[in-house]
Amino acid sequence: MLPKTANVVIIGGGVLGTSAAFHLAEAGHQDILLLDRGPIASGTTPFAAGQTGYLNKDGFSEPFTTYCIDFFENFAARTGQSIDFQRCGSLRVALTEKYQADLEKRVQARDDLSSDVEFISPARAKEMVPGFYPPEGCRIASIPHDGYVEPKSVAVAFAAAAKERGVKFHTRVEVTSLRTSGDRVSGIQTNQGAIETRNVVLAAGAWTRQICQSVGVNVRSVPVRHQAFVTAPISDVLPMQPIVRVTEPQIYVRHEAGGLLVGGYGYRPLSFDMDDFPSGFEIPALEADPIYYEQLRTAATLFFPAIKDAMIVQERRGLPTISPDGQLIISEPNGVGGLILATACGVGGIARSPGIGRVVSDILSGQSPLVPLAQLDARRFDETYSSDVQLRSRCEELYARHYHELV
Ligand SMILES: Cc1cc2nc3c(=O)[nH]c(=O)nc-3n(C[C@H](O)[C@H](O)[C@H](O)COP(=O)(O)OP(=O)(O)OC[C@H]3O[C@@H](n4cnc5c(N)ncnc54)[C@H](O)[C@@H]3O)c2cc1C
Repeated sequence: MLPKTANVVIIGGGVLGTSAAFHLAEAGHQDILLLDRGPIASGTTPFAAGQTGYLNKDGFSEPFTTYCIDFFENFAARTGQSIDFQRCGSLRVALTEKYQADLEKRVQARDDLSSDVEFISPARAKEMVPGFYPPEGCRIASIPHDGYVEPKSVAVAFAAAAKERGVKFHTRVEVTSLRTSGDRVSGIQTNQGAIETRNVVLAAGAWTRQICQSVGVNVRSVPVRHQAFVTAPISDVLPMQPIVRVTEPQIYVRHEAGGLLVGGYGYRPLSFDMDDFPSGFEIPALEADPIYYEQLRTAATLFFPAIKDAMIVQERRGLPTISPDGQLIISEPNGVGGLILATACGVGGIARSPGIGRVVSDILSGQSPLVPLAQLDARRFDETYSSDVQLRSRCEELYARHYHELV
């Protein structure tokens, strides 16, 4: 039976909702209820590549990123639950002068990491990743802190740790609308009844924007398709070889089950309005775009020739959410107190999940936050991107040049 009241309701049991649940319980909040329309981690989370990457262009960088790195490296000690984190490092490769200068700047900007980051030769990169053929003259940064996790395991571990700390979970419950009283959230309506609450954390992934429309809030965060594929085992792939990210063709390639997992940006970007899907649509039903996959394979083959004829044994795709400045939204929207949005994590929600959960908890605890809240505030877009057409085309454009954004 669904409870009739709760102190905090979290909508969404993906990596963001479960991290928020853990962090809130850890901070001492009581009577927390997490709802998901499917099982835990049944949205975009399980389809991720699960990579952590710390040379990304986050406006708020240091304390947030350091918190996330530290959390993944000490996940079991922090939560009592283990995850499969492979700290294999990464190589970030820039082929042209413009992006080589950008790479230098990214490394310099990360004071906390730069002592561990080194520039290596193409020959050294080839030793570390035997199937990789870096062109002469490229610049390669080796970042030992990076790695990857099995993404579903992160949400499951956060959920288990939250449950141990008293959070209640109800799956197969769909939230159909939010309710307000005056300028504050007062409850939610579900397909199994109403729940009164003065605090809602909305972490419903691709559906966040749609759910907010029930209280007239226009969240500037839209779902944009992202696809990756996994090959059958390839003989020279090493289990702990670093992830390779090549800037210009915007591809990433890492080990997966003896083969390679390949993903990339800029290939036929497409955003969605979740109302255009039939009701009951779930992420696994998202249609493949074979042309995107083919373009990705062609781009990756130039650097990893074995990909050309490798058998593809798995396709991954989902709908990460993106805002018009490419940065997170973690805040109340204008006019609805007590509603905390956790969205727009882009293709980085797994890596950022510890920090996002922590910020949600800081806000609801009235604690001084890990990062300046203004940078995460939904209200920064109040005067802009109010039309869907403008918003979606801007978010598609940002997605399309994810690795091309200069610092
Ligand atoms: C191919 C691919 C590769 C990726 N690679 C990486 C990577 O390497 N590193 C990285 O950090 N990120 C990566 N990502 C991005 C990452 O997957 C997302 O950023 C992250 O999973 C988003 O988590 P979420 O909790 O916001 O959303 P979701 O996982 O989608 O969770 C939202 C949850 O809300 C529930 N829900 C929705 N509507 C309702 C409702 N009305 N009522 C109740 N419940 C509801 C859904 O069922 C779902 O479980 C990748 C994504 C893809 C697709």
